[in-house]
Amino acid sequence: MELKALVVDLDGSVYHGDQLIEKADEALNLLQKSYKILYLTNNSTGTRADFARKLEHLGIPCQKDQIISSGYAAARYLKEQYEGSSVYLIGEHGLKQELLEEGLHLCATGPCDIVLIGLDNDFNYEKMNIALSHLLKGAILIATNTDPVLITKGAIVPGAGALVASIEAASGKKAMVTGKPSAFITDLIVTTLRVKPHEILIIGDNLQTDILMGIKSGMRTALVLTGVSKLSDIEHFQIRPDYIFKSIAEVPLRLAEGRDNQSSSPLSDEKGRESSVEK
Ligand SMILES: [Mg+2]
Repeated sequence: MELKALVVDLDGSVYHGDQLIEKADEALNLLQKSYKILYLTNNSTGTRADFARKLEHLGIPCQKDQIISSGYAAARYLKEQYEGSSVYLIGEHGLKQELLEEGLHLCATGPCDIVLIGLDNDFNYEKMNIALSHLLKGAILIATNTDPVLITKGAIVPGAGALVASIEAASGKKAMVTGKPSAFITDLIVTTLRVKPHEILIIGDNLQTDILMGIKSGMRTALVLTGVSKLSDIEHFQIRPDYIFKSIAEVPLRLAEGRDNQSSSPLSDEKGRESSVEK
């Protein structure tokens, strides 16, 4: 089956914070000659334009519409499902900007229909309290993502999931999630790329988000060992990617091998898939 598009996770797959993963720029510059590429991140703190600029700065040409962030997915979801509603936002400038670009109404005071939570470095008890009061009055709880932690400058810090959990605990409501590995962001990817799921290879460092999402939606999946998931996690979580690469730098060669030799292509059939996996 011909591969037409790549969905590439950012943090842990292309860079660590501000540090490019070795030869990720060379690999992506090669890959974009042959495939449509979308970049995917559960980080909602920046806008899509911010992430595109960051990639450009790291030597990877990128347009804003090649970025799908959990913040953009949240804004699209709210526009599609709750247009005209007012939103109480716990989140940073990137998420706020994406909501405004989709024409959503943010409420400062007064009644709110939706409480939306993304990562917020200024999260505090007062924000939690305001969110709770809206939820107790009937507002719907939505989260960009529920990643429990993230790695920043080599340190493990609380992720949006930790904030979401506190508000779920207080309100007794369960958040609807728009980012990875939700069905909503999967649909957004497929509609944006305009190809079928099995024509997409998702490349990511996280078994529980990137790879799980790919498996659930019928995409092909490649785990890179430059981020959060280790080889031993595959058995632990029972989430099995089609391919395992040491780094994204290996991907152009592996895909080229697949194209050059269709009968034993690492990407053409089940038998080939097994042979391409480094264990
Ligand atoms: Mg990642």
